[in-house]
Amino acid sequence: HQPELWSDEFNDFICKCLIKDFELRPNVLDLLQHVFIKQTVGREKILQKQLIELIDLNQQIGVIEKTRHERIHTKKGSHMKTQDADEVDDLATLEVLDENTVADQLQNRYARDQVYTYVGDTLIAVNPFHKMEIYTPEHTKMYIGAKHTANPPHIFAVADTAYQSMVSYNNDQCIVISGESGAGKTESAHLLVQQLTVLGKANNRTLQEKILLVNSLVEAFGNACTVINDNSSRFGKYLEMKFNGGGTVVGAQISEYLLEKSRVVHQAMGERNFHIFYYIYAGLADRKKLAHYKLSDSKTPKYLYHENIKLGPDIVNNASYKEQFDAVEQCFKVIGFTLEELGNVYSTLAAILNSGDIEFSPVASEHQTDKSNISNMSVLENVASLLRIRSDELQEALTSHCVVARGETIVRPNTVEKAVEVRDAMGKALYSRLFSWIVNRINALLRPDSQGEDDKGLNIGILDIFGFENFKKNSFEQLCINIANEQIQFYFNQHIFAWEQDEYLNEEVDARMIEYEDNRPLLDLFLQKPMGMLSLLDEESRFPQATDQTLVEKFEGNLKTKSFWRPMRVDLGFGIHHYAGKVIYNAAGFLAKNRETLPADIILLLRSSENELIRKLVTHPLTRTGEVDTTPGESGDTPYHPRETTNMRTQTVASYFRYSLMDLLSKMVAGQPHFVRCIKPNNDRHANKFDREKVLVQLRYTGVLETAKIRRQGYSHRILFANFIKRYYLLAYHANEEPAATPETCAAILEKAKLENWAMGKTKVFLKYYHVEHLNLMVQQAT
Ligand code: ADP
Ligand code: MG
Repeated sequence: HQPELWSDEFNDFICKCLIKDFELRPNVLDLLQHVFIKQTVGREKILQKQLIELIDLNQQIGVIEKTRHERIHTKKGSHMKTQDADEVDDLATLEVLDENTVADQLQNRYARDQVYTYVGDTLIAVNPFHKMEIYTPEHTKMYIGAKHTANPPHIFAVADTAYQSMVSYNNDQCIVISGESGAGKTESAHLLVQQLTVLGKANNRTLQEKILLVNSLVEAFGNACTVINDNSSRFGKYLEMKFNGGGTVVGAQISEYLLEKSRVVHQAMGERNFHIFYYIYAGLADRKKLAHYKLSDSKTPKYLYHENIKLGPDIVNNASYKEQFDAVEQCFKVIGFTLEELGNVYSTLAAILNSGDIEFSPVASEHQTDKSNISNMSVLENVASLLRIRSDELQEALTSHCVVARGETIVRPNTVEKAVEVRDAMGKALYSRLFSWIVNRINALLRPDSQGEDDKGLNIGILDIFGFENFKKNSFEQLCINIANEQIQFYFNQHIFAWEQDEYLNEEVDARMIEYEDNRPLLDLFLQKPMGMLSLLDEESRFPQATDQTLVEKFEGNLKTKSFWRPMRVDLGFGIHHYAGKVIYNAAGFLAKNRETLPADIILLLRSSENELIRKLVTHPLTRTGEVDTTPGESGDTPYHPRETTNMRTQTVASYFRYSLMDLLSKMVAGQPHFVRCIKPNNDRHANKFDREKVLVQLRYTGVLETAKIRRQGYSHRILFANFIKRYYLLAYHANEEPAATPETCAAILEKAKLENWAMGKTKVFLKYYHVEHLNLMVQQAT
């Protein structure tokens, strides 16, 4: 039925549509235009009149829009409360918690710029992608020592809870932030540190300032511009803020995980190298110091070369980079690095940039076709002088290698490819070791002054680490990241489980009803010794003849579980069923990535450097955070502990990773956990765009739905007596009866419905999801 255009009936209909569902507006307009055009063909005379009317209608729409806007933004008005009765700050208080409810709630809240939501004691943070006025000093104050229910959910509330629990229970705390790239983890970590320095009454202003600067400093070295995030963290970070027994901040310590060092020598389309390289290039140019560091302002170093920045001047003249360089230098100085150290850091960075420009060409001789030569000796000289080593030795180390055969050392030439590989390996190694060295220096400088024996101190750790990854092609890096997530998930499950148990105990319901499938078998699959995946990888890495193919076969031969399989038709492929879903990995390059050996020739050469920093980077195995005094935890129920303070000198990437994961876990289990789940509402970094499917996947990946799952396996529904009776009393009583809101009434209804295995709490009825389905069906039939 098409009402006549602009008739009262028509206008009414449109207005109703608009009021009923604002989202319909664009559709209504489409429809209007459609009708409009159809009815006006050949009737130009009335076109004008109708146009005016259309504009009128638009104005009417504008009014509706404005009212709606006011409605949304006057949240405090009491009429709002009734309108949003089924929207709550804590989703765990909902009767039903499943993925649709969670998504609906988040979507509605997001539409009102309410980006934070609790699920029990987990905070969900949806990235607003625009500046919000909710981090002001007033907000800081508002969230100190306040009950969760007193204010809207907020990241500051998490900081406060952690701080208050630390002080009241004299217990370490740990805040785990997870989410995919660009979801807001790093911002959240900043906000937590910001609030914690206030809470920790850092009366020493410099210390407070230093702690806030630590993040900026390590991010200059560990973050980069990617297609997803302009400031993407390419490493995992665990920042511990140290407090004394009185709750005052006294220091900080930072641990880094899995720096993506391949970025130093290669960046994917549309991506960039680590920020610091651009900062230093522009900054040194600004100070007319490029020549001193052997850099040219007209020729972009290869490692920085990028489709979009073809010319040196683009970087050199970038004002923001210059500012950032000054800021980084300031951070270094405030934290306490010496000028000499700074100079060494710059030389190392410049050496890395220069080394990328060393070029090789094949030497065609009759006997040896596979030899290579350096074609631009001046660049080689530059690198050698920056590293303070001999250039002839560097040339030799790049273009040849030693092999020991039958007790004799033989020098073999490197092919061009091999030489390039060695050159890049040197750049990556220097950078990642430099990064670790900086982190260690920071830790030394921010270590609290030695505290008395009786005052061991307390700490709050903040973990900001990549979320679960599943790309088109997944390699060793994804495997490591996903193992870390698997481990964190295990920890999360345990926590949710304990939290569920509490709810049961409070309601005096038998907690033995909660069962859940944990992911421990998967952790065994990865981490067990000697038959876990990482151990097998290490074992295979020790055989010189091993290949990625023999590695996959070894996996296949030893890992007997449903969670591991070999997909057909994928060379070097293997699949793993993670908690978050199935991932197909490709083992190509696994062995090389795990061995990650910098050729002995290069190491020996760098050890001869006259630059103290360079020598340090290659001489001692860096005292990585956690390497010192790792006393295994007492509790026997966590699966893995860092018992292995093994010989870090000969470690492979896998063994170091395994070790640091254990170390991280031991710190985490020692403390009381808090979880922040960051959600990215869309891939376009748009404010006000909520891609529901995308959010659902993340809820799954970040384990938020795990909460729902654990609940589903226990009593998924908890309904207050009064609500339960209101809904179901017809099953046992007459319509005109008004039974009392007591457990007895509820029990009578449940018995009448012939249901079993439910439980009666002190205020709520505890039901399984199938009970509710059954009850609803009965009510439907009865009415
Ligand atoms: P991640 O560390 O998870 O990769 P980031 O914390 O770097 O993500 O956030 C990516 C971008 O999202 C930030 O650069 C910022 O523009 C935006 N963002 C994140 N959190 C917030 C917030 N609380 N308020 C406003 N914008 C934010
Ligand atoms: Mg980040």
